[in-house]
Amino acid sequence: MTNTSSQAGERPRKEVAGIYTAPPAHWVGNGFHVRSMFTYADAFQGSDPFVLLDYAAEEQFSPNQGAPRGVGSHPHKGFETVTIAYQGEVAHRDSSGGGGIIQAGDVQWMTAGRGIVHEEFHSREFSNTGGPFEMVQLWVNLPARDKLTPAAYQSISKEQIPDLALPDEVGSLRLIAGSYLGKQGPAKTFTEMNVWDVVLDAGAGTIFELPATHNLSLAILRGEVRINANQSAQAGALVRFQPGGEVLELQAGENGATILLLSGVPLDEPVVGYGPFVMNSMDEIRQAFDEYERGKFGNLS
Ligand code: MN
Repeated sequence: MTNTSSQAGERPRKEVAGIYTAPPAHWVGNGFHVRSMFTYADAFQGSDPFVLLDYAAEEQFSPNQGAPRGVGSHPHKGFETVTIAYQGEVAHRDSSGGGGIIQAGDVQWMTAGRGIVHEEFHSREFSNTGGPFEMVQLWVNLPARDKLTPAAYQSISKEQIPDLALPDEVGSLRLIAGSYLGKQGPAKTFTEMNVWDVVLDAGAGTIFELPATHNLSLAILRGEVRINANQSAQAGALVRFQPGGEVLELQAGENGATILLLSGVPLDEPVVGYGPFVMNSMDEIRQAFDEYERGKFGNLS
């Protein structure tokens, strides 16, 4: 146990706004059994600039030779999809020419921008062997000025992601995007944000300092965590925070905790999401459907 409260001092905390339990899992295609921990349909604005988080908790898949499970060709426009593979492998192809296998520990950061068509399946090799599968898909909104940026694809391998020890070696932090104690994550982002994959050892505590300008959300993927010494959240919970504050105190329960920490400067723009599109108005959504139907987002080759 670490006594962290004295280190937090009198600086303002990131205060919890609410703790929400994700609804039961649903299937995306036949490959991704996800709980939507938040979506753009939620009234809560405090996740901005993040607009959706789907978590496929660890699940055992039987071998399925020759017929990988997943979701076939579909479009996106106006935001970025970030796929974090924890276990298993995802094979991806898109109309910008991007593609590849996202292996355990890898991250794919895909910019849908002005429009893309892609498919997401279990890799052929994973499909042949079966095994445990666990992943996150996070949707990051683009500001209005960048919604029509060309589609793009960042393939970020496990080796490119700094895997940092937390102070006093109480756990680890994989720095996917943003910065932590002077280190920079590999993902290129359009606006300022942090995406940290945090593991806290059993009973261990730590303090994070975050900009007061950042909104903050925590997705608790495994274990249990105590927040600011006064509230607890379990695996499957989304912890939402009020704006402002700079200090966050976390302490893992007796089995440790895995936490996806999302913080970022809010865009403060209208968010109109519909199916696979996230734009600023319904007119732009209608335009996206029209463009997709006319083949303007390209095709999978
Ligand atoms: Mn997709």
